[in-house]
Amino acid sequence: MAHAIPLWPQPVLPVAGGDPFPVRRIYCVGRNYAAHAREMGADPDREPPFFFMKPADAILPDGAVLPYPPKTANLHHEIELVVAIGRGGADIPVDRALDHVFGYAVGLDMTRRDLQNAAKKEGKPWDMGKGFDHSAPCGALRRAADIGHPDRGAVTLTVNGEPRQKGDLSDLIWSIPETIAYLSGFVTLQPGDLIMTGTPEGVAAVTRGDVLEGAVEGVGTLTVTIG
Ligand code: MN
Repeated sequence: MAHAIPLWPQPVLPVAGGDPFPVRRIYCVGRNYAAHAREMGADPDREPPFFFMKPADAILPDGAVLPYPPKTANLHHEIELVVAIGRGGADIPVDRALDHVFGYAVGLDMTRRDLQNAAKKEGKPWDMGKGFDHSAPCGALRRAADIGHPDRGAVTLTVNGEPRQKGDLSDLIWSIPETIAYLSGFVTLQPGDLIMTGTPEGVAAVTRGDVLEGAVEGVGTLTVTIG
């Protein structure tokens, strides 16, 4: 089929031992670990989860250089477990939610914190703080068929070898099945959708030349250099 402008490449994630996974949409959960909610000045009580998005082509592969983005002086790391949806659905019940998961990866929800904070203060959208170019570094997917469905395990990030973030999947305020179920009430989830599930405490700024090494126990690792 002809198109008015050239088609762009479909963003994909590599899959360990399989064909690449096409990325459709990237949903992100805000404040899903109590200690991080507190460090952001929020009440970590179990208020319903909320979501924001990044464009699919914000994906940056493992090992890549992330060009320091424009319009910020406060670029933050947020290490997160990423859930890849393999089977779509709406109003998915919690006890069926994991049937919709293709696999898991380690991701970074990179954030222009100064822009996000300004937006928060003025009641404006977060998009320019969260959804900028290359703002979603993500490692290779591991299939749930191979590794199961992690519900505990360390989530860690070092910068230049120094520990920065440390949490555990068992500390998620909203579990993976609960998050999928809740999100699927707002939108019909589609194969190819990713969910970044929130970050533990310890978010902080990075500068050019920093090397970020993230890991989720039982899932994998992710390395990014700030350019
Ligand atoms: Mn996040």
